[in-house]
Amino acid sequence: MAIILLVTNIPFLTTKFVQELTDQLKANAMRLGFALCGVTVAAQPTRYSKLINWLDAGYAGQMRYLDERREAYRHPSSVLDGCRTLLMLGFPYRTHEPPQNNSGLGRVARYAWNDRDYHDLIHDRLRQLKAWLVEKVPTARIRGIVDTAPLLEREFAEAAGIGWVGKNTLLLDRRFGSYFFLAALLTDLELVHDAPQEKGYCGTCRACLDACPTQAFPRPFVLDATRCISYLTIETKGEIPAEIAWEVGEWLFGCDICQEVCPWNRKAEQASQSQLNPLDSFKQIDLIELLRMDDATFRQSFRGTPFTRPKRAGMLRNAAVVLGNQQCEDAVPALIQLLSESEPMLRATAAEALVKIAAPAGVLAVQNAAQLEPNDQLRARLARLLKLVP
Ligand code: SF4
Ligand code: SF4
Repeated sequence: MAIILLVTNIPFLTTKFVQELTDQLKANAMRLGFALCGVTVAAQPTRYSKLINWLDAGYAGQMRYLDERREAYRHPSSVLDGCRTLLMLGFPYRTHEPPQNNSGLGRVARYAWNDRDYHDLIHDRLRQLKAWLVEKVPTARIRGIVDTAPLLEREFAEAAGIGWVGKNTLLLDRRFGSYFFLAALLTDLELVHDAPQEKGYCGTCRACLDACPTQAFPRPFVLDATRCISYLTIETKGEIPAEIAWEVGEWLFGCDICQEVCPWNRKAEQASQSQLNPLDSFKQIDLIELLRMDDATFRQSFRGTPFTRPKRAGMLRNAAVVLGNQQCEDAVPALIQLLSESEPMLRATAAEALVKIAAPAGVLAVQNAAQLEPNDQLRARLARLLKLVP
């Protein structure tokens, strides 16, 4: 005899129907490229208090939107009213290996190599899943999310059995490592739950912790975002602190180091290139060309990509940092041009880079800029900086 379940705004669904619905939903998700999918119940995340401690420690830095929504993280019903179930999804994105980097080029984290922002790519697929589910159960409430909603996605993904949270704080799967986008489909429907991931597979490994160039992990499973290159190159609005800038190395946008060293990523399966369309020109970016871009060219070149998040100012700042780290003499004329930008942050970063490169023309340009600098604080800083020139 079929057991009858009461579902929020749907009179009755039999267990048979719920099982079939869950199976078909997962099959559709797989067909759309979500190689990982699992179902879990909407409940307060067990690590909610850890999020609060993390926010209180100031590890979120300038990402104030996280702090402002701390209450909303308490339950998925803040994201979807009446939410009962989450379908957690993983979309693998490892396609090629990173190219050898050369002076004048900046490295880009793998997730941003594609011709469009992954949020758009994933939302397209979530919309298709939602449309299918609405057709099956027209009264269902459903919402697809990628990143932007107040939801502890990794925690729910672990509860849905699609991976474990590693010491580098990322979700890991034994087939795909950590190279996958996480998404969720929230619904007020009841679906059949999967068993949670009970066990992690980091063991005694601590490769990610030891490899991080900025020591962004105060301890395993905790990330101080304010020291993370991904945060510094994408989320921060101001300068990258001079004491960390060297450690940014060649990373123009994001950082993959704590993923590249992970043994689970060494053997991670490749993702379908046809689903992602990675571009060679995005795997590493010509930094001098980037410095020469005005606003209109920047917008035209990067429309619909994640590079618009730090905006032109952030990307030019990052480019100057990398060129300084590379001590790239070819970049001196473009960096001198940057000294005339209206944003003090860009003038300061250009000066730092020119002093690192220490080419005579660049140092002379910083000396001249120091005399003409209208901002008192920056003028004093440029004077201090010039004392470091050998
Ligand atoms: S992304 Fe880079 S900087 Fe950030 S924690 Fe990982 S290794 Fe460190
Ligand atoms: S590098 Fe080692 S410790 Fe870090 S996430 Fe991978 S397996 Fe876990």
